[in-house]
Amino acid sequence: MTLALDLAYVAPTTLDDALLVLDEGDGRTALLAGGTDLVPWMRDAQVLPDRVVDLKRIPGLRELALSGGTLRLGCLVTFTDVLTSSLVRDRLPILVEMAGHVASVGIRNRATVVGNLCSALPSGDAGPVLLVLGADVQLVGRCGRRTVPIDAWFAGPRRTALAPGEIVTGVTIPVPDPGHGAAFARLSRYRGEDLAQASVAVLVVPGQATRVAFAAVAPTPLRARRVERILAADGFDPTGGFAPEVVERAVRSVGDDIAPITDLRAGDRYRLRMCEVMLRRALAAATARAAGGGPAYGTSLM
Ligand SMILES: Cc1cc2nc3c(=O)[nH]c(=O)nc-3n(C[C@H](O)[C@H](O)[C@H](O)COP(=O)(O)OP(=O)(O)OC[C@H]3O[C@@H](n4cnc5c(N)ncnc54)[C@H](O)[C@@H]3O)c2cc1C
Repeated sequence: MTLALDLAYVAPTTLDDALLVLDEGDGRTALLAGGTDLVPWMRDAQVLPDRVVDLKRIPGLRELALSGGTLRLGCLVTFTDVLTSSLVRDRLPILVEMAGHVASVGIRNRATVVGNLCSALPSGDAGPVLLVLGADVQLVGRCGRRTVPIDAWFAGPRRTALAPGEIVTGVTIPVPDPGHGAAFARLSRYRGEDLAQASVAVLVVPGQATRVAFAAVAPTPLRARRVERILAADGFDPTGGFAPEVVERAVRSVGDDIAPITDLRAGDRYRLRMCEVMLRRALAAATARAAGGGPAYGTSLM
C-alpha cells in the first residue's frame, strides 16, 4: 500500500526546537518515535497529521540510567534496549519479562516504551508493569516541565494526560527493595506480532502492599484495587506467601475490577476466566521470586 500524504517532516536536534515546531502547529502535528503505531495509523487514515516531528535526532533521549533508587528511561528507549540492559535485568527484571513479550524482534528494535504509553492502547504491554511499579511520566512543554504519576496517565483508549504542545521526555521508575518479587503474564492468540488478549502484572514487596494491574480488559490498563485490598487485608507472609484461601478470594474478585469486552481477539467471558488463571499464576511466581526461588524472569507463565 502506498503512503501518499501531503505531509511536512521535521527532525529537530533540540527539545526546544521540537517544542517550537509543536507550538507553531495548528494541532495537527504528530510526534514520531519508533513509528510502529503512528505509521500504521497514518496509513489507515486513523490519524492525519499535516506535520510529523521526528524525535530521534535529539541527543540524550535514549538514556537508560539508575540514579539513587530511580531508573530513568528516556523517551527513545526501545523494548530491545530494555531487554538487553544488564542494569534493568539486575534491578527491575519484570521490565525484561514484559519487553520479551512485545511483538517480534523487528518491532521491539524500533518501538519505544514511552511510545507505548503515549499510544495508550488498552492492551499495551508497558502499562500494567509501570502501574504496579508506580512510575512517573516526565513531560516538557513551552510552559515548563511537569510530572504525571502513571495512575493519572491513561484517560481512555488512545487518550492520555498529555496536553497539546507537550512532549514526554521519559519515565522514572522507583526501584523496589531487592527482596521484591514481580511477574508479568500475558495471553495472546499466537506467539509473535499479536496484541495481548489480556495481561497482568504483580509486584510483591515483603512488608508493603501487593500491587496488581491488568491490561486489555478495560478501556485502559488499570490497577486492580479490590484484588489489592483483599491481598493487603490478609497480609503476605514472607515465609509462606499468601494463604491459599486469600489467593482464591482475590482471584474470585477479579471480575469486580475489570470490564472485558468481546472483540476479534477474544470473548469477554474467556478474558475474565483467563485473568483469574493469570492472576493465580502471576501471584505464585511473584511470591516465589520474592522468596528467592520461582521461575526465572522471562519464563512464560502461560
Ligand atoms: C506488528 C505490530 C505488533 C505490535 N505488537 C505489540 C505488542 O505485542 N505489545 C504492545 O504493547 N504493542 C504492540 N504494538 C504497538 C506498538 O509497537 C507499541 O505501542 C510501541 O511501543 C509504540 O512505540 P513507538 O515508539 O513505535 O511509537 P510511535 O508509533 O512513534 O508513536 C505512538 C504515539 O505516541 C506518540 N508519541 C511517541 N513518542 C512520544 C513522546 N515522546 N511524547 C509524546 N508523544 C509521543 C506519537 O505521536 C503517537 O501518537 C505492535 C505494533 C505493530 C505494528
